[in-house]
Amino acid sequence: MDHYAVFGKPISQSKSPLIHSLFATQTKQSLEYTRVEPAINGFDSAIIQFFADGGKGANITAPFKLAAFEFASNRSDRATISGAVNTLKKCADGSIFGDNTDGPGLVQDLLRLSIPLKNKRILILGAGGAARGVLQPLMAQQPALLMVANRTPSKATLLASLIPSDNLTACGFNELNSAGSSFDLIINSTSASLTAELPAVEPSVIAAAKYVYDMSYGDKPTVFMQHAANLGLTNVYDGLGMLVGQAAESFFIWRGVRPMVEPVIQALREKL
Ligand code: NDP
Repeated sequence: MDHYAVFGKPISQSKSPLIHSLFATQTKQSLEYTRVEPAINGFDSAIIQFFADGGKGANITAPFKLAAFEFASNRSDRATISGAVNTLKKCADGSIFGDNTDGPGLVQDLLRLSIPLKNKRILILGAGGAARGVLQPLMAQQPALLMVANRTPSKATLLASLIPSDNLTACGFNELNSAGSSFDLIINSTSASLTAELPAVEPSVIAAAKYVYDMSYGDKPTVFMQHAANLGLTNVYDGLGMLVGQAAESFFIWRGVRPMVEPVIQALREKL
């Protein structure tokens, strides 16, 4: 039976084994998918052992995505731009291919939710690993504008410099609040929701949006989603579909089969 695994630290909370077992059942693929928690400096030895033991592919989560990037023998363009890898695949010639499926996972979820992207004005809050991973796939949707705004403005500027384009700009929250701009879609990629905090963005900026998407998710709407709803927005979504979408893209890279995401999102939602 082909063996796959997710590597991270901590890893017991990962939903990837459940998601991939649901994909496998749905698509009638025979595989096993386990969790691996290497020591903090032990990613390389753990992944070398995994592939030496016959492992076919792996998902990589925090804090090993940069180590996985270095480990890969070759990488997709989107992984190269993001500087991070969340999917490794052992190829027929023994080389290890690295990809980043967070961006396709997000874009597929936005399109699944019927959120238009082409020629639209998109604001992404946050400039961490998640924002970096989705930049190129979002730009590939040809928005009129993609603005990256971050609490630490220099990180937003650095991110925007990765893809030179007049349609990709960066700023800090102060500049965003004073510009009076409006956006079709606001994506919260900050980790503020994890600590029930709100990014310091003026309510008027949020209230002017048509769609709000928080990459975080939980058993109830995140504080950012609740904030947007309180401001009168009705098109407010969490990142559970992105989680399943990035997994589906990894599954496709490994197995050449594209699973349906909707039933898996429903199944996960019931277990949150
Ligand atoms: P990072 O630690 O790399 O980046 C965190 C970002 O959040 C930084 O831009 C940081 O700003 C900002 N931030 C943190 N706290 C606050 C705050 N109180 N106010 C404003 N900004 C804040 O995290 P990731 O990018 O890896 O992850 C971000 C979020 O995305 C997490 O919630 C994660 O769970 C989620 N995620 C969801 C995925 C999915 O599949 N649904 C996939 C990947 C991530 P600064 O630079 O100023 O510190």
